[in-house]
Amino acid sequence: MANANAEIGVIGGSGFYSFLEDVTEVQIDTPYGSPSDSLFLGEVAGRKVAFLPRHGRGHHLPPHRINYRANLWALRSVGARQVLGPCAVGGLRPDYGPGTLLVPDQLVDRTKAREQTYFDGLPLPDGSIPNVVHTTFADPYCPAGRAVALKAARGREWEPVDGGTLVVIEGPRFSTRAESKWFASAGWSVVGMTGHPEAVLARELGLCYTSLTLVTDLDAGAETGEGVSHTEVLRVFGENVGRLREVLFDAVGALPANEDRDCLCTHAHDGWDLGIELP
Ligand SMILES: [Zn+2]
Repeated sequence: MANANAEIGVIGGSGFYSFLEDVTEVQIDTPYGSPSDSLFLGEVAGRKVAFLPRHGRGHHLPPHRINYRANLWALRSVGARQVLGPCAVGGLRPDYGPGTLLVPDQLVDRTKAREQTYFDGLPLPDGSIPNVVHTTFADPYCPAGRAVALKAARGREWEPVDGGTLVVIEGPRFSTRAESKWFASAGWSVVGMTGHPEAVLARELGLCYTSLTLVTDLDAGAETGEGVSHTEVLRVFGENVGRLREVLFDAVGALPANEDRDCLCTHAHDGWDLGIELP
C-alpha cells in the first residue's frame, strides 16, 4: 500500500488489466467506503496506471450500486490525476450504430439516487468537514484528455465521433421507446448508465476525466426491432474490446505528465476553501 502509486487511472472492465504481466493488486479503503474492487497497478507505455474494474470482478455491481465516490477517491489516493472512463452505451441516432466510438463533450444527468458530491457537509472519519462547494461543470470532460483519446482512435484507424452528449440514466433497466425518442429528439447522442456521477466526482477531486463510449446497440427509440438486449450488448462489446483496449493504451501513453497539466480540470477549485484534504 505504501508503495502504491500511479499517474493515470482507467475505470473499465477486466479486459484492461487481466493480460498485464506485472500487476500489483492493492486494496484501498476510503472515507466513503470500499471501491468496486482492488486497484490493479501496472505499467502501460511506460506510464504507471491504476485499473479499477467498475463493476467489480465478475461484474457483480449494477450501475446504481457502484460506489462512485470511493472509486474516484481511491484512484486519487494512489496518485492518479488523469482518468480514462470507457463505457458501453446505446446509440440515439441511426448513424451511431454498434461499433461506433464516441468521445462525448457534454453530459446530461438522468440518474436519480446516487451520491454525486464529496461536498455534502458531512464530517469525514478524521473529523474534517467539507465546505459547501459548487463545482464548475459546464464542460464536464477534460479537453486535453479528449484530444488524446480522439488521436489515439484515429491512430488505430477507428474514426471516432468527436463530441456529442452522453445522457446517463439510472438503470439497471434500459430505456423505454418514449424515453429513448425523447433523448434523441433533444439532440443527445448516446445513452449509458455509469458516466455519471463518475465525471462530476472526478472534477470535484480536480482529476482530468475523459469518457470513451462504445456503442453496443441502437437504443429503443432509434431501432425498429424488439429493443436492447443484454446478450447483444455483450456480443458487440466482445467484438470491440480488443481495439478499444489498444486505443486506451495508446491514449495512456500520450496523456501529458500530471505536472504539465494546465486544463480547466486543474482549476476546478480555484477560489474555493474545500474544508477537507484531498488524498
Ligand atoms: Zn484536464
